[in-house]
Amino acid sequence: MMRGVAILGSTGSIGASALAVIARHPERFRVFALSGQRRLDVLIEQSWQFRPSAVVVPDVAAAQQIAARLPAATRVLVGVPGLEEIAADSRADTVVAAIVGAAGLLPSLAAARAGKRLLLANKEALVMAGRLFMAAVAAGGATLLPLDSEHNAIFQCLPAGPREAAGVRRLILSGSGGPFRTLAPEQFATITPEQACAHPTWRMGRKISVDSATMMNKGLELIEACWLFGVGEELIDIVIHPQSIVHSLVEYADGSVLAQLGNPDMRAPIAHALAWPERIDSGVARLNLAAIARLEFAAPDPQRFPALRLARAAAAAGGDVPAALNAANEEAVAAFLAGALPFTAIAAVVEDVLEGWSAAEPDSIAAVQASDERARALAAAAIRRCSEEG
Ligand code: NAD
Ligand code: MG
Repeated sequence: MMRGVAILGSTGSIGASALAVIARHPERFRVFALSGQRRLDVLIEQSWQFRPSAVVVPDVAAAQQIAARLPAATRVLVGVPGLEEIAADSRADTVVAAIVGAAGLLPSLAAARAGKRLLLANKEALVMAGRLFMAAVAAGGATLLPLDSEHNAIFQCLPAGPREAAGVRRLILSGSGGPFRTLAPEQFATITPEQACAHPTWRMGRKISVDSATMMNKGLELIEACWLFGVGEELIDIVIHPQSIVHSLVEYADGSVLAQLGNPDMRAPIAHALAWPERIDSGVARLNLAAIARLEFAAPDPQRFPALRLARAAAAAGGDVPAALNAANEEAVAAFLAGALPFTAIAAVVEDVLEGWSAAEPDSIAAVQASDERARALAAAAIRRCSEEG
């Protein structure tokens, strides 16, 4: 059976990996639609290779810029309505949600409501609106398949039926610890964006690379796991594993622990989710355990990585607190990448926003967006104060 695939955010790191897997299986997958925000040259190149029926660009100016440079059969759509349209179109039964940040919420949600096979990389959507998002998945009859490597690993290690009956005791998220796992704490203040984006084991977009360096990424993943697997944060442990070979684990009542292993290459979880419940070749190099020789594990350091504590507290608080955490983090990371905020101030800005936050349970996506905007305004004020003091 031929699957039609829409890729939201095809010009990014996950988007490119998804296309690399799809290119190996032209008999299984047809690219129905692509989207990109800034790197339009990449979008044009991808369009000639995969001949999508539609591409989505941010605005009319971008559409005019690229229309004449695309294959004649490719329609150009714009903005969030364009993304929502390709996410819900009946010509795609599979949607890869690979936009970074809050911008991915509405398009990912459109795919959930339309009952797609939804391959979710855009963790921020679940962090912001977990309850409403999971309700949309259920109401739309969507199949939610995690692309985040840790969650994909847990998905693979969980039984098919109810977890309680199967005796699942804990989920264990592993994380590399990022580039600064062993850096002396007094050197954190002078970390540059280039250093923060040089991840030791994964090649990723800049925002998630900074999140990995602060370990906010693991915090966001903790919240993501709560929603994906329907468990409280107290049932999820985090373990540092610098080699990024064990992608996460599930502990059972009898003491058995199941793990999923593989080389750190996103094409593996992407191929798993694209073909699920079948298995296909991903192009990932085979694991050679004898060559790797050592797998190390350690507890995360709360002093170096305060973001973990903030994210766990947000997960426990629930309501719109995770949305506030995510919005404040996005603003702080953008300011850090622009050279306007020191590395150590990223978590400080998030903490500042959460300290004054009065939590509410959002009953609509509009309410989530209002919380997101309020948190961004508070974060912008905290960032201004930081730069005045510095
Ligand atoms: P990236 O920056 O490389 O790509 C982001 C994509 O989103 C690009 O196609 C970009 O054009 C698009 N985009 C950015 N802003 C947009 C906006 N405002 N509107 C519409 N489109 C927009 O990021 P990435 O590393 O590919 O990560 C994408 C998502 O996947 C993130 O949520 C990240 O947390 C998650 N993820 C990534 C990896 C990885 O290995 N890269 C692993 C796990 C999870
Ligand atoms: Mg991950």
